[in-house]
Amino acid sequence: MSRRCSLPLVILLASLTAPALAQHAFDPARSPADDTSILLAPEPYKTYRGYSLVRAVVRDHAEFNRVLAISGDCWTHTPRLEQPVDFLIPPGGLDALRALGVSFDIIVPDMGDVVAAERARLNSPQTRGWYDDYKNLQAISDKVDELVALRPNLVSRFNVGPSLENRTIFGFRIDSPTPGPAGTIKPVIYIHSTQHAREWLAPVTTMYVAEQLIAGYASDPDATAFLDKFTVMVVPVVNVDGYVYSWTTQRYWRKNRRDNGNGNFGVDLNRNWGFAWGSDNGSSGSGSSEVYRGTAPFSEPETAVMRDHVLATPGIAIALDVHTYGQYLLSPWGYTATPPAALPFFNKYGKIMQAAIKSAHNKTFTYGPCYTTLYPVSGGNLDWWYGDRNVMMWSPELRGGSFAPPPTDIIPSGQEIYAGLLALAKTFCRADYNHDAFMNGNDYDDFVVDWIGALPAADYDRNGFVNADDFDAFVVEFEQGC
Ligand SMILES: [Zn+2]
Repeated sequence: MSRRCSLPLVILLASLTAPALAQHAFDPARSPADDTSILLAPEPYKTYRGYSLVRAVVRDHAEFNRVLAISGDCWTHTPRLEQPVDFLIPPGGLDALRALGVSFDIIVPDMGDVVAAERARLNSPQTRGWYDDYKNLQAISDKVDELVALRPNLVSRFNVGPSLENRTIFGFRIDSPTPGPAGTIKPVIYIHSTQHAREWLAPVTTMYVAEQLIAGYASDPDATAFLDKFTVMVVPVVNVDGYVYSWTTQRYWRKNRRDNGNGNFGVDLNRNWGFAWGSDNGSSGSGSSEVYRGTAPFSEPETAVMRDHVLATPGIAIALDVHTYGQYLLSPWGYTATPPAALPFFNKYGKIMQAAIKSAHNKTFTYGPCYTTLYPVSGGNLDWWYGDRNVMMWSPELRGGSFAPPPTDIIPSGQEIYAGLLALAKTFCRADYNHDAFMNGNDYDDFVVDWIGALPAADYDRNGFVNADDFDAFVVEFEQGC
């Protein structure tokens, strides 16, 4: 639409898009000038009327691709052969799907009903607790400020950097005064979520976990022990532009807001990381695809500033990239079926987290490598953390059967991931240096050889160089046992 609107038309459009503008006005990093531009060129709110959510079982790769050609939007993160795979089907697509002879169930006949009900609920006055419904970017930002105000000696806010549309990607650090082993820097758990905009359960779950730690420090033994062992960094929303867009305009938007030309928008940030980037087996070179990888590794400001922030943060030992949905604890690799060297390590802690999560609400999260023959992930964040940074990494896929689980799922989801994270932190053993799931003399021998050779892996405290601190910290933890 042209910006040369007549004034009455502008007023009419403003009234038609009032709910979207009300949401937009909450965005923290927008200038008034930006809001004016939105006023002049509003994009109608997508109702999803006539869209269906179906659960299909595909028999082979070719059939998967035929369904995807109708759908354009596979909702299952790691679809597998012979297992149900969710697809969003546009109006008129069900007949085409039937013509394929694919077996499927209709999970939601009309997503328009779901979107309308959710929107009505979110636009009604909210007087309940913070975790009783989904939260827009401004509310999440305000919550971070609230947590800083609650425990200013424990929590500090940081900026990661600007997004494509110049919003600020923000986060916070939870840091108790206890030092790491042998006086070294304490190991850091870096938790980030919402690379995919529509995964609204992810940021509120991440915030819930963080708030349990913050509120419980020095009173709750679990939270206290956790924060005396680990520093925690949290970035609740990586894809800030996409997240705002999913609130204002298109509820099931996944990618960032890059203009790819030809009316196509968005790069899948979780295909834009610079490890094993660029394969057509696990991402797409087409700007219209939901898994479009972008024009180059780290072509997107969101992944580039996240990378730079990680590189500037010493001490990172563990990372979590939180997504929805499917109840998984995915570990590397995403791009290849070849098992990673640390597979025994990933599986050991995957199993520990699985048991802890199940103890919360009896939900089983499946752990294991992200890769599936049907749907590999190349250029994913998971592989970058492990392959490039040598950081132990899991990607939880939260509970729920769609991207719009009922808001009553938020607190149980938070409790599940908090239980899993507590169990991980309690048992996590850095001194299992060779990641074979046992700590023994081999770890000592391997570490000493690497340390003498000043290999990057021997930078035990991850501060960027190998020195006596690394040796001291390793020996302290090795002698403590695991
Ligand atoms: Zn995701």
